[in-house]
Amino acid sequence: MRGIAAAPGQVVAPAWRWVESQVHDSGVDLTGEAGINRLQVAIKGVKAALATKAARLEANGAAAEAGILEAQALMLDDPALLDGASGLIRKGGLADSAVADTMAPFAEMLRASPDPVFQARAVDVEDVVEQVRRALHGVSDLPPPPEKPSIVVARDLAPSQTAGLDRTLVVGFATEQGTATAHTAILARALGLPAVVGIAGLVDAVENGQPLLLDGDRGLLIIDPPAEDVARVSGPAPLTADAEPATTRDGRRVEVGCNAANLDDARRAAAAGADGIGLLRSEFLFLGRDQLPDEDEQVAMLEQVVAAMGDRPVILRTLDVGADKPLPALPQPPEANPALGVRGLRLQLLRRPDLLLDQMRAALRVGATGSLRLMLPMVSTIDEVRQAKQLLTQARRELEPTSGRGTHIPLGIMVEVPAAAVGADQLAQEVDFFSLGTNDLTQYLFAADRTNPEVASLADGLHPVVLRMIEQVISAAHRHGRWVGVCGEMASDLWAVPLLVGLGVDELSVHPPLVAKIKASVRKLENRECASVARVALTLDNGQAVRRLLEERDLAPAPRPD
Ligand code: PEP
Ligand code: MG
Repeated sequence: MRGIAAAPGQVVAPAWRWVESQVHDSGVDLTGEAGINRLQVAIKGVKAALATKAARLEANGAAAEAGILEAQALMLDDPALLDGASGLIRKGGLADSAVADTMAPFAEMLRASPDPVFQARAVDVEDVVEQVRRALHGVSDLPPPPEKPSIVVARDLAPSQTAGLDRTLVVGFATEQGTATAHTAILARALGLPAVVGIAGLVDAVENGQPLLLDGDRGLLIIDPPAEDVARVSGPAPLTADAEPATTRDGRRVEVGCNAANLDDARRAAAAGADGIGLLRSEFLFLGRDQLPDEDEQVAMLEQVVAAMGDRPVILRTLDVGADKPLPALPQPPEANPALGVRGLRLQLLRRPDLLLDQMRAALRVGATGSLRLMLPMVSTIDEVRQAKQLLTQARRELEPTSGRGTHIPLGIMVEVPAAAVGADQLAQEVDFFSLGTNDLTQYLFAADRTNPEVASLADGLHPVVLRMIEQVISAAHRHGRWVGVCGEMASDLWAVPLLVGLGVDELSVHPPLVAKIKASVRKLENRECASVARVALTLDNGQAVRRLLEERDLAPAPRPD
């Protein structure tokens, strides 16, 4: 089956199907006294299961997460639940809807609270209702975990689910939804898990335990693979190191940094010889947590990342939450068009400037001792940047003179909204650097959802309109002496590297396993020739024509040996 290559590496393992939480009516009697009895048994069963899970989490050192489950068990202890639901059942209701109706006002009350901590608890209430509903219908809570290392097969996986995958039991994943630039795929690359996404008809075609060959390099999933294919499997992409600078044949240095989601990535980036961290996605740093870390905790996290990189620079991106990157610790109300809604910097300016201030103070404190830079995501207008700069001034004022108040921390922006690209000339006068977020820039330029595989081919990063926009941004930045990196997935695309070099980028920020490969490809290039090829590419009709041009000029990546 063909899909989109989302994270490199090849693995062979049995399938493990991720079962979605759908409960169909089981037909059991949920009315009258029988329904009340069944409800009592269900509540008892859920409480026992919660206690077991909480104990397991506690034993693994996840005390905060265990606390959530203990709180859920306490909700089930509340006599108001059984009394309220029994009353509704006696009036002719069914046990499952009676539980939901009894608990709904509590969830609503929590959701209406201005405090995000309480809002998050609404989900826990609904989760408890769902668990009781499953128990009433005799459906198990979660699919049993795989018994041996397996390939996860799912319709889709949320980033938090991907982050929560047990690395010892999950060796790769295949999904029906998603594209290579969706966050789940990006996280898979960060975790070093081979992944193929956007495979049409996947879930219906694969059975639990069926042998699979997942080829994350070519975007292939082979069911029941023949022995000769299995023999050729290379395993997860190896990490080769190259700490030497990458300079073109005619002497232009192009920095090769890494994208990182956590401390482990930073360590792998340092080991791979990256010239810095071009993008530290702070929202991933905070995934899997119940609450956002406070300023001191953030300082501790950042100090570790900066220390892992030695004197190489680290670009901390402030929280980019929303759209396809929800953060459980920061729940937000649903929106009709989340990708066009309150995400990234907008969320912090419109709703939570306190969070931006926390991050800024932490960054200033760490910046006083290490090489840290700050970057704002999803900037659309110069006014947003000015607002953020005022907050940075405020953050500095709030610090002790000895701890960060006097720090100059370079401030940059992601250029990933077309409005920012078109306004790059003015924005370059407000900030110290740019980093091109080509994943979102391409999505917004073509109005093609980055999570939707059906429109993935439309959002081609090699299309001349994307290249033209990049050219304008780089020229505007350089006119004002500003540095420009590329931290979208395009920086890791060997087809795109000669064009990006030719258009003048100062840095390519890639995944740790790719540092050596991208540095090697830069060293083979001649800057002058890349510039002339890029100029021609800007005039062509489509991405295919650009690829043909690269082939004609001998700048296409070598085909993979089969
Ligand atoms: C991008 O949009 O290209 C980018 C690097 O940011 P993210 O993928 O985290 O949205
Ligand atoms: Mg982005």
